[in-house]
Amino acid sequence: MNIKDLQTVTNDTLKEVRNYDVVTPDFFSDTFYNKATKIDTNLDKDMITRNSSESILDKVIRIQKETKDHTNELKGHIDLATVAIQAKDDKGLGEVKNNIDDLYQRILHLEEQVYLDELTKMQNRKWLFEDILENNTFKRDGALTFVDIDKFKVINDNYGHIAGDKVLVMIAQLTTRLVNSKTVRYGGDEFIIISESSDSTKQKKFFDTVNQNLSKKALTYQGNSFKVGISFGCVDYKAGDNFHDVIEKVDKMMYEHKKARAEQV
Ligand code: GH3
Ligand code: MG
Repeated sequence: MNIKDLQTVTNDTLKEVRNYDVVTPDFFSDTFYNKATKIDTNLDKDMITRNSSESILDKVIRIQKETKDHTNELKGHIDLATVAIQAKDDKGLGEVKNNIDDLYQRILHLEEQVYLDELTKMQNRKWLFEDILENNTFKRDGALTFVDIDKFKVINDNYGHIAGDKVLVMIAQLTTRLVNSKTVRYGGDEFIIISESSDSTKQKKFFDTVNQNLSKKALTYQGNSFKVGISFGCVDYKAGDNFHDVIEKVDKMMYEHKKARAEQV
């Protein structure tokens, strides 16, 4: 199985397991295995169990290593600062300060990466669960739109995964035009847009316009031309509301919208 398929199966697995409150490693690898065998029937299950966690683990391991390197670097700066203070060496102290400022910027950048989706550079689920939610409930009032790309699989099947990836990035970027909002890549072709200083009516208006614009302009990739559309649902929520209840509600709205859009064609 190539890296692209691995990424797709991983995303699909994440999308499915999100419906469960508790996901054990075994359940995760079984779900992954079932999806992976649809692409490659010769897969060995032990290999899958290792691979399914690898793409996530790679990132974690890289971040852990960089964090450790930064900590060691900081220890070195502290030692140099101690020497400079004892020697009353202002120039040396100034240099240490510059180095620490530089290190601080790199740490901030690393921290951002933990909360970003690799492909679209939008916020990831970890950000949603830590910044917006606490124990699966919303910390503050706000509005949320759940977006799912229509027939996205067909784009992958007809034009390839790279075209699919480009569409994901393009849709993600379009959602960021909604002011004072944050976009989360929630699953493979699903996005959640959070606005804490606005309401769902404004969100609905914005995404209706997005669809109108998308319907007017075909996309082109390697000489192929195709159109893409989105289905969505928008809700207001209150601090303390349960996330899963809100998602269930908005997912139904999105599904109804998808059905209505399919009937239009
Ligand atoms: P619907 O109109 O019902 O939403 O149909 P759909 O084809 O969009 O829905 P489905 O959820 O079946 O397909 C989502 C597809 O997204 C399946 C999966 O292969 C693909 N996918 C998931 N993650 C990625 C990714 O990172 N890149 C690409 N190119 N495809 C992805
Ligand atoms: Mg879809």
